[in-house]
Amino acid sequence: MLVDGDTGSTSDWDDRWNHIKKFLERSGPFMHPDFEPSTESLQFMLETCKILVIGAGGLGCELLKNLALSGFRNIHVVDMDTIDVSNLNRQFLFRAKDVGRPKADVAADFINSRVPGCCVIPYFKKIQDLDETFYRQFHIIVCGLDSIVARRWMNGMLLSLLVYEDGVLDPSSIIPLIDGGTEGFKGNARVIFPGMTACIDCTLELYPPQINFPMCTIASMPRLPEHCIEYVRILLWPKEMPFGDDVSLDGDDPEHIQWVYQKSLERAAEFSITGVTYRLTQGVVKRIIPAVASTNAAIAAACATEVFKIASSAYLPLNNYMVFNDVDGLYTYTFEAERKENCSACSQVPSDLHFSPSSKLQEVLDYLTESTSIQMKSPAITTTMDGKNKTLYLQSVASIEQRTRPNLAKTLKELGLADGQELAVADVTTPQTVLFKLCFTS
Ligand SMILES: [Zn+2]
Repeated sequence: MLVDGDTGSTSDWDDRWNHIKKFLERSGPFMHPDFEPSTESLQFMLETCKILVIGAGGLGCELLKNLALSGFRNIHVVDMDTIDVSNLNRQFLFRAKDVGRPKADVAADFINSRVPGCCVIPYFKKIQDLDETFYRQFHIIVCGLDSIVARRWMNGMLLSLLVYEDGVLDPSSIIPLIDGGTEGFKGNARVIFPGMTACIDCTLELYPPQINFPMCTIASMPRLPEHCIEYVRILLWPKEMPFGDDVSLDGDDPEHIQWVYQKSLERAAEFSITGVTYRLTQGVVKRIIPAVASTNAAIAAACATEVFKIASSAYLPLNNYMVFNDVDGLYTYTFEAERKENCSACSQVPSDLHFSPSSKLQEVLDYLTESTSIQMKSPAITTTMDGKNKTLYLQSVASIEQRTRPNLAKTLKELGLADGQELAVADVTTPQTVLFKLCFTS
């Protein structure tokens, strides 16, 4: 098909963006009801729109390639990792000669040399090392992360950029967040408009803690090869201590894995279970979930499509959560995750903590880490008393931890805390402190 190849100021060859123009310069049954086909959307994508990709791994490589080929030319990428030889099967922007180099740098170089006009700017950094001014410059942020903590931090950062005037959210302060995630043959893609739609913390219950097999299954009724390996890891190793009394199981020590593997085979034979291999043994011991290239490709494609839809306003974005599963056949399902009224990240109201005055601070700490809706990692708790800031407990600095540790055994009453008192809690899962209100139960 011949279409006018002129794209304005850019020195592109004729028809370069034909595949994109088909979506932006003519109407169709699926377009956004308010969208007027024109050449402006493409110009905006090519020249103005600034995208941030978080992560340059399995999802990140796919995302960068998809975005660059969709006409986005102003892309920044943040990744703190260096390339490992085991990445090369799926992280296709990397070659054997790149092993040891920063992923962000190599990915950016590859895209920049391969896609003319595209400018990817890399940051070999942790997301926590960049500040609000940095994040505020982007139109859209896409996450291809393998860590829930990092996702939550990013979510918290975008929530902290929101501007409220008299309680009303200023829509121009919203930066859409597209989040992709994969685990083996399963994945998800979601679209978050911070402050408007469900955020990562609103749906924390969807990220359950590590799955463990029930102990009774492991001990007496194994059915899977994994059960046999867990039996050896959890029960047999501490009992037999095959490498000496103080030697704990090291997933990177081949002799240890070999021992667990042999014992697991014996256990499996006893119950006529097949499928125990050395590789599986190491996978179970080290909690490895193999990365699957096709899952990454499908999820990254879905995420890049959402970026395209939002940047061009040509189509309605995903509303708002898509799950994908290709374990057995292929299955996708989309639902609208709902905002949680009392979400500790995005609700703007301090969550209540219900404790009796005789509860110990340790119980509050345990609640903050174990509650499925909060799931903090190493909360630091402070409060204001008589106009002064008081640190009740802080783990991350050894000297303060030592000084505040005795507080954990004290009751809330002994610590001088009152009903309705606000506790400010800092944690690695968020860049901002989270406010909680203490509600005494009798
Ligand atoms: Zn929320």
